[in-house]
Amino acid sequence: MFQIALYGKGGIGKSTVSANLSAALAMNGKSVLQIGCDPKHDSTRLLLGGASVPTVLDYTRNSLPGERSLEHIMFEGYCGVACIEAGGPEPGVGCAGRGILTTFEVLEKLGIKEIPFDIVLYDVLGDVVCGGFAVPLRKDYADAVFIVTSGEYMALYAANNILRGVRNFNDRVLRVAGIIHNGRGLLHEDMRVKAFAGAVGLPVVVSIPRSKDFEDAERNGSTLMEINPDSDCAEIFSGLAGYVERIADGSAKLYPACPLEDHEMESMILGRETSPGADRYYRKAGIPYESSSSASVSSCKRNLFLTKSMQHKQPLKGCSFAGAVTATSQVTDALTIVHGPRSCSHIVSHFLTSTSLSSRSRYGTPLPDKQPVLLSTDMGEKAFIFGGKAELMSSLENALMSGWKNIFVVSTCPAGLIGDDIGRIVNEMKQKYPGTRIIPVPVDGNITGDFSQGLVEGYRKVLEMVDTSVRPEDGSVNIVGEKVLSSNVGANYELISDLLGKMGLKVNCRLLSSTSADDVVHFKRGQLTLLAHGEDSGKVLQEYLENEFGTEFFGLPFPVGFRETAEWVELLAERFSAEDAAAELIGMQRKIYNHEISRIRPLLKGKRVIICSFSPNVDWLLETAFDLGMHVIKVGLAVSPETVDFRTRYVGMLSLEYDYGADNRERDIVDMAPDLVLSNYMTPTQAEGIYQDSIPMAPDVGFMSGLVMAQRWSRLFRLPFIEGWKNDGGICYDN
Ligand code: SF4
Repeated sequence: MFQIALYGKGGIGKSTVSANLSAALAMNGKSVLQIGCDPKHDSTRLLLGGASVPTVLDYTRNSLPGERSLEHIMFEGYCGVACIEAGGPEPGVGCAGRGILTTFEVLEKLGIKEIPFDIVLYDVLGDVVCGGFAVPLRKDYADAVFIVTSGEYMALYAANNILRGVRNFNDRVLRVAGIIHNGRGLLHEDMRVKAFAGAVGLPVVVSIPRSKDFEDAERNGSTLMEINPDSDCAEIFSGLAGYVERIADGSAKLYPACPLEDHEMESMILGRETSPGADRYYRKAGIPYESSSSASVSSCKRNLFLTKSMQHKQPLKGCSFAGAVTATSQVTDALTIVHGPRSCSHIVSHFLTSTSLSSRSRYGTPLPDKQPVLLSTDMGEKAFIFGGKAELMSSLENALMSGWKNIFVVSTCPAGLIGDDIGRIVNEMKQKYPGTRIIPVPVDGNITGDFSQGLVEGYRKVLEMVDTSVRPEDGSVNIVGEKVLSSNVGANYELISDLLGKMGLKVNCRLLSSTSADDVVHFKRGQLTLLAHGEDSGKVLQEYLENEFGTEFFGLPFPVGFRETAEWVELLAERFSAEDAAAELIGMQRKIYNHEISRIRPLLKGKRVIICSFSPNVDWLLETAFDLGMHVIKVGLAVSPETVDFRTRYVGMLSLEYDYGADNRERDIVDMAPDLVLSNYMTPTQAEGIYQDSIPMAPDVGFMSGLVMAQRWSRLFRLPFIEGWKNDGGICYDN
């Protein structure tokens, strides 16, 4: 079996060429199968007397796997040519490339490879050069690739793109058979096609003139080979069939794919050196511009270039889908519909539940209980090809029927890749069910960014629920940007609300942490808003809320450590005229703190400490260490985007080192012989007599943050450095 693929721009006449070539091969006594790989599914029409046949994808959609048979989708055409049409989705929805992949898988399962055809011809749309349309380029599908083109610029441009596809697939295998010039009767057309063929190093195998014979045959629903076998054009196809046979028996050669760069195409086809002003646009985008004068037209070794951002790209820390769901799933009486495959829901629910939020999501039928849940639209193969509108609509109906009043729809990568417009689908649904609150969150997985970007987008969408007519209430505060994935989020909230309560304040809305839709709606009741964390996503949220809702923010994030908390309380008390309550609160806490410090000070006084941090804030640790009379002999700031914001009130009192990596730490452990090493990540090296403890990435807030750590250190120093259980059998270390 020899397999050939005919690629070409849509509308260039490749189906006519394919059908006539199949007919010519069949007339030469070959058994031929033609597979049309164009969603238009008209490749084999001329072989079938003008009839349109059921496509593989329509058949797959409407049949069960166990009932399928090749005879339902393979039809006998002129001269015994076997005809199959892949089909595809409606224009503008789904992914036709994925459809081609499915077609090939289905045909293989149905045993197409067991039929001993002499020639299999794939007729493939060449405008789209995604992975699906490249399937026929795989070695086990196409032994030779023909490119059908006219002399028009766009047809040649598509031809060049096809060569790129061939080269990208495997540039070491000779696979290109040549160019089939299907003439349009244009001025200098022959010259242009020949110039292009010469530039890419390919032969023009045949030149088919524009002829009325083709129109007559088409009107008859037949190939020209059938109704006019003695015509000049039929002779050309007979010659082309002979060429295919020579390639199949190895007597005609195949060529490598050497596509041109875009600017080379322009100078070759349009006859001008460079696009006027193109360098200007490239410079603006930060991409190096190579003019045609500096490029070698015949070189096959052209380098791909990377933009600066691609070269220095930071790895994504989770996808924006996960970030968005982290926000929307915090609305306790809202359902988050995940528009995507089940695996995306699984990954994100695992991610949420494994970080202390248990029982956050379930699959299948949405359960309208008090817990927020995720519902996957469960996109599968069919949705990838034809679009996931039906799946999303039915999930929405299901959710609305189950009584959900607030629904978010978050899109994943597959939904984004096939271009599902969740905004439009949601609007349709809202028209059908007026008065429902359905909010689309089109983050498209990681296509639109990383976790933080998705998180902010999720917040932004949740904020669409806010009633802007609500007026602030006295003594009411909002909390924004809690780290809901931290295990201490609940404890931190309890502590902050306790402090607020002691000053006569109450929390209006936690945006977003186990928040009801009603609380979000009444967000503007908060007189003042407290930012939990001052990191990047917190700052973006603050800016958004200030601009969009005129929200008044308190100047300081949640405080960590005694001094920071005392300042925080004093400032807040000033804002709400609660100075007396604040003074009493701070006084009481100071007593507890001082008492506990004096109790453990004798154990820790004089101990030498190295602090290695990924966080810009270590003052809460330093104040405790200094209060205990410890010697902080080094503060190393690890290489991290956050440490650029390092700040300290202990300027001049510290031996500071930036870009502090594992090697620096190992060096200092040996050279400085500290008693204690504190770091966000423990070193695997155990040096005798040097204790290590971790610093939480998200420390507890409040007066006692540092003290709680100090209590741990004091216990640590009372433990034997090598515990018995570590010696596998209890060998006494001192012996
Ligand atoms: S949305 Fe994309 S990156 Fe995120 S889990 Fe799904 S496939 Fe993976």
